[in-house]
Amino acid sequence: MPEGDALHRAARRLQVLVGQELEVETPHPRAAVKQLAPRLNGRRLESVEAIGKNLLLRFDGGLVLRSHLRMRGRWRVLERDAAVFGTPWLVLRGARHTGVLWNGPVLELDRGVARRLGPDILAAPPDYDAMRQRFRATPQARAIGDAILDQRLVSGIGNVWKVESLWAQRISPWRALADVSDDELRAALASAHELMRARLDGVPGTRHVYRRKGHMCPRCGTPIKSWPQGDEARMAYWCPQCQKGEDPPAA
Ligand SMILES: [Zn+2]
Repeated sequence: MPEGDALHRAARRLQVLVGQELEVETPHPRAAVKQLAPRLNGRRLESVEAIGKNLLLRFDGGLVLRSHLRMRGRWRVLERDAAVFGTPWLVLRGARHTGVLWNGPVLELDRGVARRLGPDILAAPPDYDAMRQRFRATPQARAIGDAILDQRLVSGIGNVWKVESLWAQRISPWRALADVSDDELRAALASAHELMRARLDGVPGTRHVYRRKGHMCPRCGTPIKSWPQGDEARMAYWCPQCQKGEDPPAA
């Protein structure tokens, strides 16, 4: 699944189209019905920005196109006249390059999305104070491992980075926000930022607990546990020894 860092790489590549008036096509029928091409064709692309797991393309006239890649979407930047394979959702053709989106199940014109999303974990630097305010405004009985995936509180943290950053800071994903201090919250968010930033810069990383149920914790040797967490039942992994706290009832 594309995580926030994949989106930021796509945003970087698409910068070659910024400032140009683009020829816009939507070859895929499910994209064509959205009537995007008639509204965007010939407009100038003003910016491309990754916010969390969303790519926002701002066009002149105040139009913002939001692309979310879900499981299979991907962006590529090709030479302008390169052959485009398959049936892409979106083709953005500039003077020398063409940006192509395949499998983009979420593609919509949207003015409010940037306001609804929490601060971007990959911003340089991230706005930790704004994140803290959002975390403290949500019900404090929520587990931190659930809240940290909530894109309205902080955008861009996926399951891998949630699990690894909470392990790095010795915070159980099952602890209620009420029992997590501001300093601990900030440390967990900063860990996620550093881990994801390193990945964005191409530094290979090691997964210490993600998908390592039953393996020894690299820090203390205790077997790693796993249990689904949150409304979407994403699998949490944690070390019951160095991430102390009450485990979920059946784990
Ligand atoms: Zn441990």
